Amino acid sequence: MNHFCQQASRLASDRLERRLSLKETLRLNIHCLICSSCRHYADALRLLHATLRKAHEVEPAQELPAATRQYIIRQCQEQPE
Ligand SMILES: [Zn+2]
Repeated sequence: MNHFCQQASRLASDRLERRLSLKETLRLNIHCLICSSCRHYADALRLLHATLRKAHEVEPAQELPAATRQYIIRQCQEQPE
């Protein structure tokens, strides 16, 4: 992984936590245009992040025992590290 790829993967990760500056956004997008590895990494990261966010919206089936429902909800609400 070269210096530009390291920088791009850090920006792809930062993008999920905070708003990137215009300069950072351009740097990431331009790099992703020419580097398929980083493009795929950034896409996969974004998809993973969206999936984890949806996990917080899980609504266990009403037929499950209350304790099981609470357990599932708690597990889904724990923040991934
Ligand atoms: Zn790259």
